Amino acid sequence: MNCPDCGKPLQPDFNYCPGCGIELDKLDQFRQVVEDSFAQLEVVVAGDAILRLESLSSRLDSMEQELDVFLTTAPQRT
Ligand SMILES: [Zn+2]
Repeated sequence: MNCPDCGKPLQPDFNYCPGCGIELDKLDQFRQVVEDSFAQLEVVVAGDAILRLESLSSRLDSMEQELDVFLTTAPQRT
């Protein structure tokens, strides 16, 4: 594998990239989180994607309304 930051070849047991010094442990964790998110996304897409999108969209609508309320009730700067 190569360092995703600077592209130098890495040994699997390296904790830090010898090229740019990036911490590879954290990078691994980050990649794991991203992969998990994509895995969940795939489940959503494969499953009831439309239902979830609709509930997401209605949640966004209510957030927008709350934002409207917040903006209209917030003290005006003069
Ligand atoms: Zn690097």
